[in-house]
Amino acid sequence: MRFLPDGLIRRRYREEIDLLRSNRDAVAEINKQQFLAWLKILIFIFIILTGISILSSMSSLSYRVLLYSVALCSFCALFFLFRFIGNPTVILIGFYLLFEYLCLLTGILNIYINRTSTCSSSLVILCMVPVTILDRNGRIVAVSFMNAAVLAAASYLVKEYSVAVDDWINLFSFSLVGFFAGYHIRMKKLELFEIQRKTDIQRYYDFLTSLPNRRLLYNDLTGIYAANGPSPVRSVVMIDIDSFKEYNDAYGHVAGDECLKKLAACLSSFVRDRRMTFYRYGGEEFLGVSPLFSAVEAGEFCDLIRHAVYNLNIPHEKSPYGRLTVSFGLSETGMPGATGYTDLINMADIALYHAKNRGKDCFVIYEDGMAFPF
Ligand code: GH3
Ligand code: MG
Ligand code: MG
Repeated sequence: MRFLPDGLIRRRYREEIDLLRSNRDAVAEINKQQFLAWLKILIFIFIILTGISILSSMSSLSYRVLLYSVALCSFCALFFLFRFIGNPTVILIGFYLLFEYLCLLTGILNIYINRTSTCSSSLVILCMVPVTILDRNGRIVAVSFMNAAVLAAASYLVKEYSVAVDDWINLFSFSLVGFFAGYHIRMKKLELFEIQRKTDIQRYYDFLTSLPNRRLLYNDLTGIYAANGPSPVRSVVMIDIDSFKEYNDAYGHVAGDECLKKLAACLSSFVRDRRMTFYRYGGEEFLGVSPLFSAVEAGEFCDLIRHAVYNLNIPHEKSPYGRLTVSFGLSETGMPGATGYTDLINMADIALYHAKNRGKDCFVIYEDGMAFPF
């Protein structure tokens, strides 16, 4: 009998995997936050439980004091350890291990020690943890029901049959509630991440070339300079297509757009180990920012790009070179007058103007005294 339309589960599964993949960073961040929040709450609860059990056990050291203080110490250790761990897989493994640990702990308390009543705190864990973890639904349901099954089996072996039956009903119904509530919350969170991601792409990436746009350039630069550390912007390069207006006039704007795409793809192929990041600055101008290259090294790098663009061999009948070429202007942090990123961009722009004057298809490094013509 068929309850669901053809391929619905497979489609949902693929949709969920795609959402998880494309929002990997946001998912990792939320898992870390939730994991640390869980640990903070547990530390708080177990400080109180340890305190109460010490007071109630008076002079004799009870097993509860031992159990609670071991748990408290492990939660504190996990909290300080995971505050510094950024690896998403490690955090996810940590989260699942915490889930297992909590099930074990509540199992010891609710099944092994307290055999006469039902396992209430295990139910909270089975219901709450799957709501907070952000991972594949299949994996969460498998882990959740496996824990419920282990607890139910332990209850059957240790408790009276009538109490064990109550435990089975409670454990499986709470796992089910946890899974369905978690499923809806997870999918809603993933959909929100996806909306945010798409909005960010529209805001920060150029539609035509897919390169980061000027808004992202200024965001990145203000972020870097506000950090107040040693400037990670070492050199800046302004790149401009030569005689592009004439190209558009000769071949049309659609062909001009194709050139911009080809140039952007060429620039992207040169982003090695993030030694230089390229942004679309304006119409046919691009800006490269490097945290590592000196102006001379950046110049050598730009010469490789210049050759690559030349070898694209895009015909340009109005150019003296017979093909599309680009010019570069460079500046470096530490040059006299370069106090902020706007100075660096301005100096690179002046150097670019001189590259145009020197016949185009070349690069020029800014020198003291260079200026725009009045
Ligand atoms: P120079 O060699 O001195 O840089 O001359 P140029 O013609 O390249 O410079 P100019 O600033 O005179 O012209 C820039 C041209 O770039 C004008 C404009 O039509 C074109 N342009 C700017 N943005 C786009 C775009 O998105 N698509 C197309 N096809 N053309 C664009
Ligand atoms: Mg220009
Ligand atoms: Mg130009």
